Amino acid sequence: MSQVKLQSDNGAEAARLLRSLKRTQITIAFAYLYDSLMLFGYSAVGFVDVRVPLTVIALFALLVGAVHWAHSSGWSHRQKDPTLFLPQQLYAISVALGVALVAPQIGFQPFATLFAIGAFSFMAPNTRSLAICWAGASIGAVAVIFFVGPRLAMPTSSLAGQALTGGVVVGLLARCVWIATFFRKLQRRLGEKNKALKAAINRIEVLANRDELTGLPNRRSITKWLDEQIASCGRTSLALSVALVDIDHFKRINDAYGHLAGDRALQIFSEIASGAIRATDRIGRYGGEEFLVILTATTLHAAEASLERLRERLAGYDWTAIDPDLHVTITIGVTQYTPGEPVEELTRRADLALYLGKESGRDRIVLDPTLAARPTSQAA
Ligand code: GH3
Ligand code: MG
Ligand code: MG
Repeated sequence: MSQVKLQSDNGAEAARLLRSLKRTQITIAFAYLYDSLMLFGYSAVGFVDVRVPLTVIALFALLVGAVHWAHSSGWSHRQKDPTLFLPQQLYAISVALGVALVAPQIGFQPFATLFAIGAFSFMAPNTRSLAICWAGASIGAVAVIFFVGPRLAMPTSSLAGQALTGGVVVGLLARCVWIATFFRKLQRRLGEKNKALKAAINRIEVLANRDELTGLPNRRSITKWLDEQIASCGRTSLALSVALVDIDHFKRINDAYGHLAGDRALQIFSEIASGAIRATDRIGRYGGEEFLVILTATTLHAAEASLERLRERLAGYDWTAIDPDLHVTITIGVTQYTPGEPVEELTRRADLALYLGKESGRDRIVLDPTLAARPTSQAA
């Protein structure tokens, strides 16, 4: 299912790219047409022979036609660079330099076109293509400048020439604006994609940290939170208590009422427990029917009172929605963090207290015997 979606996403992305490529090609074709019209204008007012614009429009039409065929026939997709950047640029550069060479009296126009061609360098598929275009255009332009010398001119000797030269500048600036717009759109799209990506990462993070059945933090997440609380304990010297809660005879519940009823019991327990602990405390699913409760700024004895509330709420819960005969009890082993001890030692002691609770008959809270006798000195 997700593979189908991925494929259709890829298909949509490819179609979008193709549309964007087509739009760019149409813009470029219009730019060539504009350049040719300017040349026709120069010809009409006597700056150049009409054969110059005729040849140029024919050459550009040939290029546009060839590129269109290459894209629509699929030929370009089989090439290393499907945008055909390098051949297109080199061709356009050659045409512009050719115009400067044969009609240096309007040399400003082909040189302006050269800048416009250069401005499309952002489409280069790699640095090599860029370097080739830059070197080709630079060597060609310098060679033309030296070759035609003082004949290279900006045709402003008449009002019509001034108007046309103004038109050339306007056309050049319009291309710069088009490129700026293109990048703004790209930036906006990237921004949207980034937002979607962040949302996806957040969703993944939530999924990675939550237990699917109960919605509680999973073992990974609750252990991480415990590590953080231990670290903050080192800074604040506040007491920290940790409890392991295990549902009694849960296997029997599964066996007697079915696995689904067992699942539902786990969910109900999670809801009750989440409501019973303080907002500053946290509970996570540590294993199958075992939960870890972290009680911040709480001494061992204060934790006992808090957990007793949880045990009582569970004992008083009406389980008839699952089965009238169902009763669920829990055993809790609780301990308090001793500064400097590793987290494994802390949970091991809570586990030991839990074991003692199971051994002594279940449905009870057992304090870590190694600490229970000691008065808890740290501030709550
Ligand atoms: P004790 O009082 O000693 O803790 O006995 P117990 O039966 O609760 O403990 P035991 O470890 O023998 O069995 C735990 C059972 O919990 C076994 C397992 O199938 C069940 N269990 C673990 N995860 C899930 C779950 O996600 N859903 C359901 N329905 N059962 C689960
Ligand atoms: Mg159990
Ligand atoms: Mg267990």
